[in-house]
Amino acid sequence: MNFDNNLDLMNSLANDIKTCKLCQLSNFRKNAVPGEGGFKKKLMIIGEAPGYYEDQVGRPFIGAAGKILRNILKKYCIDEDDVFITNIVKCRPPNNRQPKKEEKDLCIRYLETQIELLQPRLICILGNIASSYILGLKSLTRERGRIIEKRNKNYFITYHPAATIYNRELLSTFENDIKKLGEIINNN
Ligand code: SF4
Repeated sequence: MNFDNNLDLMNSLANDIKTCKLCQLSNFRKNAVPGEGGFKKKLMIIGEAPGYYEDQVGRPFIGAAGKILRNILKKYCIDEDDVFITNIVKCRPPNNRQPKKEEKDLCIRYLETQIELLQPRLICILGNIASSYILGLKSLTRERGRIIEKRNKNYFITYHPAATIYNRELLSTFENDIKKLGEIINNN
């Protein structure tokens, strides 16, 4: 299976997400955010949930944190055509609160289907919330910056770029992790 073969299924899934009313977040959203990207290097990046700007236009990672992520990805030779970027929860929680467990439990079916259709070579998970939900990790600090194999999939964990806005000391570690991610994706 590859992205090209599954483009129709991905588009149909995106339409399901845009009209989904499974959880209460559908009452607050302007636009659901299914995810985007060319996926040429079979890399998938997963964050927590859309924020204000993402909700306005239905695209992932386009606010301040998204700009940090996209700029650093580009610096290390990962551009928008190489990666599919999405979140665990596809609709913005009000006031950017963390998504609730029941919201994640209802929405995860979409992410699972995206992973099944795309068959990523590597899945990069951003931040504590996403890594503890998907992998059950207790400590992002201890596990970040290296490949973790779980359930026949390869994961790479790093900070959420939003964390680098609030704590500037994390920025160089985040950048080093993305540099390593670029080396893995571009050299294998
Ligand atoms: S967050 Fe997910 S489950 Fe909830 S309404 Fe949006 S797409 Fe549906």
